[in-house]
Amino acid sequence: LFITIEGPDGAGKTTVIKEVSNRLVNKNITHILTREPGGIDISEQIRRIILNPENTKMDERTEALLYAASRRQHLVEKIVPAVTSGKHVLCDRFVDSSLAYQGYAREIGIDDVYSVNQFAIDDMLPDLTIYLDINPEVGLARINAGRSKDKLDRLDMEKLDFHMKVHEGYSIINERFKDRIVKVDASKEIDQVVHEVEAIILKTIND
Ligand code: C5P
Ligand code: MG
Repeated sequence: LFITIEGPDGAGKTTVIKEVSNRLVNKNITHILTREPGGIDISEQIRRIILNPENTKMDERTEALLYAASRRQHLVEKIVPAVTSGKHVLCDRFVDSSLAYQGYAREIGIDDVYSVNQFAIDDMLPDLTIYLDINPEVGLARINAGRSKDKLDRLDMEKLDFHMKVHEGYSIINERFKDRIVKVDASKEIDQVVHEVEAIILKTIND
């Protein structure tokens, strides 16, 4: 199966998926853990272009196309071969990140970004997507580790505004793709979140 984990920054995706992967290893469930943008050399190179803070002039649509290009290469070079050889794939972020960040929060439009991504992924949608739902203020506070809301400076308030839009975008996407997305409350203790995500994945694998 092809399984993705999604959610705004600070939801705990990377931490949770790593721990779930460890547990699957202990259960002898053959899988790979990967991430995007990145996962393989070409896609990591594209990631560096997108996330380079010196690239201040990057247009939103250029950004969306680069994410889609990075996704395509990662898919054909790593994800599809793994699934074909009978391994499950756990991927930290995938198409829903583009819909939430570039489509909704950057205001390109979810439908337009989806079209570009349909070209890139050619129907290879995940079998299961875990959506870690987190209140944007809690997410941001987790990133800023320890700083409370009243200490958020101006920059952080701008960030909070963006995070709120990302969260709103994810809520819309969650409704729209209910058939493959399962929402998990990520504000709970990390152990509890890991436990729930593992249970959902095991159930889907064993179905
Ligand atoms: O998940 P990760 O920390 O690797 O993401 C790196 C950065 O890229 C994050 O700041 C995230 O907000 C951003 N991102 C984005 N659009 C995407 C995927 C990630 O803006 N489609
Ligand atoms: Mg992460």
